[in-house]
Amino acid sequence: MRIVLASANTGKIGEIKELLRELDPELKVCGKDDYPELGSIPEPGRTFADNALYKARYVCRHTRLVALADDSGLEVEALNGAPGVYSARYSGEGATDDKNNAKLLQALSGHQNRRARFCCVLAACAPNGAELTVTGIWEGRIAETPRGEQGFGYDPIFVDLESKRTAAEMSREEKSSRSHRGHALRELVRLWPEFIARAGHTQT
Ligand code: IMP
Repeated sequence: MRIVLASANTGKIGEIKELLRELDPELKVCGKDDYPELGSIPEPGRTFADNALYKARYVCRHTRLVALADDSGLEVEALNGAPGVYSARYSGEGATDDKNNAKLLQALSGHQNRRARFCCVLAACAPNGAELTVTGIWEGRIAETPRGEQGFGYDPIFVDLESKRTAAEMSREEKSSRSHRGHALRELVRLWPEFIARAGHTQT
């Protein structure tokens, strides 16, 4: 069986491939780059689930293969859930991780409430219409100043509630055991056999 991931991010593709192959060694996982005709897929939704489902349906429709997509971002309580689905482009045109982090720290200056959470939604869609969505959440708070060198995005300013360290101070394995994406992927793996059966495939 072949599935296609609606992502060109090689880090994410590698992570997802590894987990799904453990479930089914025969599975062939391709990235969006294997289908250049797909171009860049819009993210028109107002929620992570809307965007993940939109991307999975889009890729499934164009490839006639089982498609898997993800959408993720950071929600800050004192900012009514911002930057949310706009996390990647929070600081506007030409946004970078550093600019996004600086804008967020500025927006929170003077706020006592620094609670925040990362959210990741994975959506799968099959040509016969079967769908699956799973969500992973990581609770934390926003640091006063960036700390750590690992990871990407908001990692240097996101403090894990339990360990009190930022995501950028964690190894890849440690982050994955705590993170929104790690939780969502483990839930996906749990529900995958049932989804594949609904999709009309059998799994070894
Ligand atoms: P997307 O899921 O690739 O659209 O990512 C959305 C944005 O959310 C990223 O560009 C990051 O800014 C942020 N984000 C999502 N997951 C993480 C994470 O694990 N660490 C840091 N930032 C993240």
